[in-house]
Amino acid sequence: MTQTIAPLGPPPVVGLRMSGGSVPLSAVVPRPRGGCVRGRVLLLNASYEPLAVVTVRRAAVLVLGGKAELLHGHEEQLMRSATIVLAVPSVIRLSRFVLVPYHATVPLTRRAVLRRDRHACSYCGQSASTIDHVVPRSRGGSHAWDNVVACCLACNGRKGDRLLSELGWQLRHTPYTPNGTRAMLARFGEPLPAWSPYLPMAA
Ligand SMILES: [Zn+2]
Repeated sequence: MTQTIAPLGPPPVVGLRMSGGSVPLSAVVPRPRGGCVRGRVLLLNASYEPLAVVTVRRAAVLVLGGKAELLHGHEEQLMRSATIVLAVPSVIRLSRFVLVPYHATVPLTRRAVLRRDRHACSYCGQSASTIDHVVPRSRGGSHAWDNVVACCLACNGRKGDRLLSELGWQLRHTPYTPNGTRAMLARFGEPLPAWSPYLPMAA
């Protein structure tokens, strides 16, 4: 008895012509034309939640192994081997849901704050090397993500224990608590345009 699964949505971008047999996947993952593709691929959970950023090769192995489906690929950029043609992936989704216990907030450290604020002073925009409590701790401010910002040495010295209202200063960005997804993405630089439908809205 055979089971037929009706295709959903538009036809897949992946054109697979497997030769069959027991060839290890790593051996059949096509080489991109023109050598190495230095692409980054957004890996989503089965629930469409972003999980990680992986290499093109890793993504191709997951797709060809049936562990993930290709949601978005560069159709103008094809990976070819003797038996397979595959659009270079940009977004893939795991076939099975995996439980990832990484939703805890990122620990509040100087390095993490500087990374969140892209190493730019939240008051003047210059290169930041320290952190500052927006409402000083001596004035009741908390040591929390929404009260700590990246700060340059000059602003830090000028601000002292004063409030922004006393200085007439304004924050360039509202400080937010990063979650696991944002922290993960921050490590991999700017998201690709194709990822945007799958990323959480910016705060
Ligand atoms: Zn500054």
